[in-house]
Amino acid sequence: MYYKKNSIIYLDGEWVKAVDSHVDLYSQTLHHGNGVFEGIRSYSSGAGPNIYKAREHFERMKYSCETMGIKFNYDVDELVKVSYELLEKNGVENAYIRPLAYLGANMKLITCSEVHIMIACWEWPPYLGYENQKVMISPYHKPSPKAFPVDTKVNGMYANSILATNDAKKKGFDEALQLDLDGNVAQGSGQNFFYVKDDMLVTPPLGNIFPGITRATIIEFAMELGYPVIEKLFKPEEVKEAEGAFFTGTATEVASIASIDDFKFKKNWKDTIAYELFQMYRARVTNDELSEFNLG
Ligand code: PMP
Repeated sequence: MYYKKNSIIYLDGEWVKAVDSHVDLYSQTLHHGNGVFEGIRSYSSGAGPNIYKAREHFERMKYSCETMGIKFNYDVDELVKVSYELLEKNGVENAYIRPLAYLGANMKLITCSEVHIMIACWEWPPYLGYENQKVMISPYHKPSPKAFPVDTKVNGMYANSILATNDAKKKGFDEALQLDLDGNVAQGSGQNFFYVKDDMLVTPPLGNIFPGITRATIIEFAMELGYPVIEKLFKPEEVKEAEGAFFTGTATEVASIASIDDFKFKKNWKDTIAYELFQMYRARVTNDELSEFNLG
């Protein structure tokens, strides 16, 4: 699914076939989760592919690496250019792009100085599909920012997301809604969370959550349309007074939520401002900011 016989990846400055690429089994990323990745999407725009907010993703990757003491010896613009070449080499335009900075062999609990970068791409439908999501409040909280930099995309942190998703699926739900250390609503396993009330958006503030690029985009769009956005801490009970709710993320895009635990939202999401924002997102990702690196 992620790669075929002829899929090409970018690996440390070279173009190689995915099937011919290897990783050191003693890698610190594999053993102790110290590595960094990003999740980016490209959309076919009619005038070639448009990698949405490519620079912001690679800037965030740089920040995640620096936080973990991983050397980031790459130029952000160069990585954007490489990503466009990657799409061209693989003959795809609507694609998910996955850069990964991974480390060499090292069993010590201190950042390894050998850093590799790979970038792969594949065609991927929205991460949560197109159905209204049945969500449960997860018993697995988001790690405290005092214990882990939750504003980074460090590989190891995703074991927490996997625990939350496994548990939700096992109990018959589609996705988990995780709480922060104080029991406030934080986010999905790999998505940010919004609820809608009285034509207003409410979302948890930065601090205990991952600072999603899609979250920031949706906030901008809402303000552009004149809908107030409130960033505040709130408990799960408060969401039961909402008209609707949705998740945002690059892989997820904008995914509507039908229910949380046994509470069902009363309004059809198409009758809320969430749907308007979803449509605006779909329109903008394909039309906006065609990059100078676009080879199309
Ligand atoms: N939360 C987590 C934990 C994530 O991994 C992601 C996806 N990167 C998001 C939220 C959404 O972030 P973005 O909108 O930047 O993709």
